[in-house]
Amino acid sequence: MRPEILNPLFGLIENLKGVGSRYNKLVCNLVGGSKIINLLWHLPSNIVDRTYDTPLNRAAAGRIWTGAVKIIEHQIPATKKQPYRVAAVDESGTELTLNFFKYYKDSLSKSLPSGSRKAISGKLEIFNGRLQMNHPDYITPPEMLPALKSVEPVYPLCAGVSNKTMLKIEQQALARVPDLPEWQDERFLSREGFPSFKTALDIAHHPQKPADLENGAPARRRLAYDELLANQLTLALARERVKKQTGRTIRGDGHLSRILLESLGFELTAAQKRVWEEIKTDQAAPYKMLRLLQGDVGSGKTVVAFLTMLNAVECGFQAAIMAPTEILAKQHMETMSGWAQTTGIRAELLTGKIKGRKRSEILADLKAGNIDVLIGTHALFTEDVAFKDLACIVVDEQHRFGVNQRLELSGKGNKPDVLVMTATPIPRTLVLTQYGDMEYSKIDEMPRGRKPVDTRVIPLSKITDVISGLKRKLDSGCRAYWVCPLVEESEKTDLAAAEERFASLQKIFGNSVGLVHGKMKEKEKDTVMEQFRTGAISLLVATTVIEVGVNVPEATVMIIEQAERFGLAQLHQLRGRIKRGIEASTCILMYGVPLSETARERLNIMKNSEDGFLIAEKDLELRGGGEVLGTRQSGFGEFKLADLTIHKDLLYTARKDAELVLQTDKNFTSPRGQALRILLYLFEQDSALKTYHAG
Ligand code: ADP
Ligand code: MG
Repeated sequence: MRPEILNPLFGLIENLKGVGSRYNKLVCNLVGGSKIINLLWHLPSNIVDRTYDTPLNRAAAGRIWTGAVKIIEHQIPATKKQPYRVAAVDESGTELTLNFFKYYKDSLSKSLPSGSRKAISGKLEIFNGRLQMNHPDYITPPEMLPALKSVEPVYPLCAGVSNKTMLKIEQQALARVPDLPEWQDERFLSREGFPSFKTALDIAHHPQKPADLENGAPARRRLAYDELLANQLTLALARERVKKQTGRTIRGDGHLSRILLESLGFELTAAQKRVWEEIKTDQAAPYKMLRLLQGDVGSGKTVVAFLTMLNAVECGFQAAIMAPTEILAKQHMETMSGWAQTTGIRAELLTGKIKGRKRSEILADLKAGNIDVLIGTHALFTEDVAFKDLACIVVDEQHRFGVNQRLELSGKGNKPDVLVMTATPIPRTLVLTQYGDMEYSKIDEMPRGRKPVDTRVIPLSKITDVISGLKRKLDSGCRAYWVCPLVEESEKTDLAAAEERFASLQKIFGNSVGLVHGKMKEKEKDTVMEQFRTGAISLLVATTVIEVGVNVPEATVMIIEQAERFGLAQLHQLRGRIKRGIEASTCILMYGVPLSETARERLNIMKNSEDGFLIAEKDLELRGGGEVLGTRQSGFGEFKLADLTIHKDLLYTARKDAELVLQTDKNFTSPRGQALRILLYLFEQDSALKTYHAG
């Protein structure tokens, strides 16, 4: 249960003063939630300085001016085109005209009666040599002047919500923040110069100068650290939970892996060996393995995955590998059935396409323990597939799995070990924030003898040259991808562009061109991909649907149209498709003009590097985490306050801090532990506490 002390922050925005149902909807949308706490996480993005109060005889036009004036007279306009004018003077005796273009006469004469004194604030302008102010931002009783002369925060807004409204709502939210016990280490706070949580919120919502708006400002850093610590505690709890659960000890005698290694025709790279050892150590330990295996496209993850499964099979258990698509599952089957034959074990493929008798046979054999390795899609988890004794699951290319899904996964079967493989190079910061619950292995070395890809950056205007180059390649027996972007507002126009390109290439290359795009049915897509794999077609025009991991070793050329529109990580993934063969390959990045400086820089990074990790780091710097993982839309992996490009140092500290907490105060019973519980609830990370204590 949420600690009572937090209740005021989890009340509804709807119940604040001045928030009608119309505002409520807009504001909730704007701040990304319906609770007061969501308002508190919505920090100002700008300031308006209302402290300028130089007497009007010396005041500069163009500035926001705040001061007391006396209302002299109203000049009612003769025509609708003219503004309603109110003459006023300040203490220096200088006249200032207040102009109203939109007005209700009655309300103006009421709010600005002649002879009255008012405090006003707004932008000073000079028109025909006279000082004026169009629609003052504020007109208040004179005693409000000191409050008015302040630096006003400006919030990120949306249509229909003014800053004035937002200010009123935010102030109410801030007033509800209770005094909370300190959950951070006092020495850490003083070393960093961090204020308390409540003070930090207050400062962050009342910026006094532009520097206060920056993510590096102490108050904002404090809040970011709170969020990061909540994140790291959650992951540490999940990690602990997995460790707490007894798993099985898998320690094969190596009689199968030895046969495989001898038959491979290559030696494992040092990185593959190291990673395999790390996995074996996990498998042998009496707890469940939950490990992330990262390796760039072509780094040789598949054989490591198979060795991992063999270890289980050597012990008489079963293993399964799940791919995100049928094509990829089939591809794994092609590779692995050979290895299965060599080692004398039985591997079977089970996808949605396999139906009827064949399917029931496989299911029966699986249950009887006659199948050692099952290869399928992720759908296998949701279906009624029963193993005799499943001890090892490999999940391929599934970087979109969240923490909770992983916990669920490792709960399947009879305490299986789980290895998650991804070919998306993930920067270390993201590994820590998204996969911090898992152990982590990285194949950071490519097998020897790989030829580098010749990457060229060419303007779209040179397309005829590119096409004649392509023709030469195809004539000499190469296969090529032609990638069209799918990034416009409307998918329809993108698709039209791809279809148009397909038509124009067909005119040149005839029947050897195929087209795949996201709107096609799975079956149609498979057919075209299959034609490309077998060589029935040699040029494949595609939108970005080219499956991650699809293996067509003969494809050695890739042309990417409007490459500047892609993220670097995405370009890297795409280019990985043509690194599978032994032939040297060519990647042509075509761009539209004009090309911005950053866009040029990004394309040059692609030209000069094939290191996925370096590219991912740069991509993170340029675009932010969600985009790297392709998860921006899903909201997964988003922080409200922390900014990993700036708060990296805090993340590492939070990781260590969280580990220390779990080592010294696992049950959160110390005073700090009690306060940390509040922190977890504050950031709505309490489900971690629950599953932890349940598990
Ligand atoms: P990934 O799954 O990491 O993208 P793969 O496992 O598909 O990469 O490996 C790509 C290719 O490299 C495969 O043909 C594989 O047999 C081969 N390979 C794997 N490890 C090595 C190695 N150590 N030396 C040479 N070739 C290797
Ligand atoms: Mg792979």
